Amino acid sequence: MRNMIRPLLCLLLLTATSLAQVRDGRLKVVYNPPKTPLSKIWEGAIQKGQFYEQAAERLNNHLAWPRDVLIVIGDIGTANCFYSPDQHRIYMGYEMYDYLFAQFRTIESDQDALRHTFLAMDFFFYHEMGHCLAGEFNLPITGREEDAADDLAAVSLAEGGQYGGEVAMAAAQFFEIMSRGADVKKLPFWDEHGLDGQRFYNILTTFYGSNPNRYIFLEKIVPASRLARGEREFKHKTRSWDRILNQHLRQPKNTGEVF
Ligand SMILES: [Zn+2]
Repeated sequence: MRNMIRPLLCLLLLTATSLAQVRDGRLKVVYNPPKTPLSKIWEGAIQKGQFYEQAAERLNNHLAWPRDVLIVIGDIGTANCFYSPDQHRIYMGYEMYDYLFAQFRTIESDQDALRHTFLAMDFFFYHEMGHCLAGEFNLPITGREEDAADDLAAVSLAEGGQYGGEVAMAAAQFFEIMSRGADVKKLPFWDEHGLDGQRFYNILTTFYGSNPNRYIFLEKIVPASRLARGEREFKHKTRSWDRILNQHLRQPKNTGEVF
C-alpha cells in the first residue's frame, strides 16, 4: 500500500498542475490603432474611463478562464460588436459608438447622447460576454443564444445598483429608438436576435423583476400582464446563470457586484 502513495501523489500533483495551467487564461484589453479622427476621440475617452480594464479585472478575479481572451477595441469595419469563438476575441467597434451616438442624438442633447452611448456600449459588452462565456466554457444554452446573452447582461447589471440600472435603461432606450416606425412586413423575423421591441421589453421586465419598488416607474411602460412574471423570471434567470457558471468560478462573486 505504501508503494502506492508516492505514485498517486505524483499523479495528483501533475493533474493539479495541468489543471491550473489549463485554467490560467486571462481577459486582456487591446486597443487597435484608430483609423479616423473620430475613432481617435473614442479611444481617448474609453481609455480615460477604463471600463474595459476594470470589467476584465473583475471577470479575471472571479472566473477560471481556460485560455486568454482578447477584448479588442478598434475600427472593425462594421457598426457592431461581436465575439469570435475561433479567435477567442470580443470586438467592440468604434463604428458602434458612432452609430449609437447618432441614434441617441435624434431624441436628446449631444451631452445626454454621449452619456447614453457609453452606458449602452457597456450593456453590449456584457451581452458579448454572454456569448464569450458560452463559447469559452462550452456552456449549455437552450433556446436562442442571443436571448441568453441579453439575460446574462441584464441579470449581471441588475446587481449593480444605480449604475446597472442606468446601463440597462440606456440599452432599452436604444432598442426603443430602433423599433420606432418599424414596418411590420419588413421586420427581420428570420434573424437570430429578438426584435428590437422585444429586447426593449425583456430588459425592462428583467429589471423590474429584480426590484419592483426601485423600478416602479416601469409599470407605466410595460403591460402588467408581463410585469406580473418579472420577479419569477428574474429569480429563475439568476439561479440558472449562477448554477451554469458555478463550476468555472475562481472565487465567488460578492452580492451587489457586477461581473
Ligand atoms: Zn449577440
